Amino acid sequence: METLLLQNTEKDIARAGEILRGGGLVAIPTETVYGLAANALDGAAVAGIFRAKGRPQDNPLIVHISHLDQWKSLVREIPDKAMALAEAYWPGPLTIILPKSDIIPEAVSAGLDTVAVRFPSMRTTRKIIDAAGVPLAAPSANLSGSPSPTCARHTMDDMNGRIDAVLDGGECNFGVESTVVTLATDIPRLLRPGAVTPEELREVLGKVEIDDAVMGQLKEGVKAASPGMKYKHYSPKAEITIVKGSLDDFIKYTETLCRAGDNKKRFALCFDGEEESISLPCVTYGREKDSLTQSHRLFTALRELDERGAEKVCARCPSTEGVGMAVYNRLLRAAGFCVIDSHDAS
Ligand code: AMP
Ligand code: MG
Repeated sequence: METLLLQNTEKDIARAGEILRGGGLVAIPTETVYGLAANALDGAAVAGIFRAKGRPQDNPLIVHISHLDQWKSLVREIPDKAMALAEAYWPGPLTIILPKSDIIPEAVSAGLDTVAVRFPSMRTTRKIIDAAGVPLAAPSANLSGSPSPTCARHTMDDMNGRIDAVLDGGECNFGVESTVVTLATDIPRLLRPGAVTPEELREVLGKVEIDDAVMGQLKEGVKAASPGMKYKHYSPKAEITIVKGSLDDFIKYTETLCRAGDNKKRFALCFDGEEESISLPCVTYGREKDSLTQSHRLFTALRELDERGAEKVCARCPSTEGVGMAVYNRLLRAAGFCVIDSHDAS
C-alpha cells in the first residue's frame, strides 16, 4: 500500500477526513505524540490499527473527540468529578477513563468495560476529527514496542506502506503521551503519567492514587490496570542503563566502563551542555532542570541513538518531580527497568 504524505492544509485535512470516514488509517499530529487514527465506532477500521502497529489485542485504545458533547455518547455517565477534571484540563494532554457505553466496539476497549477518552488541544488534530465527523481511536503511531513518533518523519519510518496516510503537522509540543487517569475506580488512579501532573489532578480530584506500574515494574502475575504498562515499550535497539547520581559520579562511572573496553558502541544520553565533560559520544535530551524540554526531546533522542548505531547507552537520570515523572516512566521502560546508582557503583 502506498502511504500518502499529507500537509497541514485545509485540502489535505479534508482528504484525511474522507479516508477516515471510509474506514482507512491516517497517522495524525497531536500535542502529545503522533497518533494512528481510525473511526472509533467502526470495529473493522480499528482492527486495522492493531495490524499496522503489531499491537497486542489486549491493549485498549484512546478515543479522541473534538467537542465536549461527543463524550456523552461514549460513556455510561459523566460523574461530576469527571466533568470538573475536563473543565480544568481539556482540551489538553489528559485521558479520562470511565465505564463505556454500548457504541464502543470491543476492539477499542480490548474487552474491558471502560473506555479512555481524550479531547486534544492541537487545532489541527481537532480539525481532522471534525473532518472525519466521528471520534477517532488513536494509539501512538509507532510500531509496537518502539519509541512513539514526535514528527512526521519518525511516523513514516515506522508506518510507510502499512497505512493510508500520514498528515505532517510539525513537531509535537509535549513529546510524551497523555496522562491517563481512571475514574472507574472508587479512588481516582493515575495509570500513566504525562504533562498533566499528579499535583494538578489532585487540585481537582483530591485524593489520587498512583498505580504501582507508573514508577516500577509490575511483579509477575499481577494484573495491569493499564494493559499498555506491562509491555516493553519506547525501546531503541541499544541496551540502556539509567545511571542515578550527580554528573561527576556519572562521568566517573562511564570512564570506568570505557576502561573495561568490550568493543561495544557506547553512548551517553545526557542533558544539554554536558557533552563537553563526558568522554563518550553523546545524545542530549533537554535541560537538566527542565522536564518539559526533556519530554519534548526524549523519543527523538532514543531514535537518534538507533540512527547512530549505539549498542550500549548510559543515561542520565531525570528528576521525577512534576512532568519529570512522565519522562522517568518512559525512560525506565526504554531501559527495560535497568537502573543503577553511580555513587554505589564507582
Ligand atoms: P497509546 O494509545 O499508545 O497512547 O496507549 C494508550 C494507553 O492507555 C495504554 O497504556 C493503554 O493500556 C491505556 N488504556 C487505554 N484504554 C484503557 C482502559 N479502558 N483502561 C485502562 N487503560 C487503558
Ligand atoms: Mg503507545
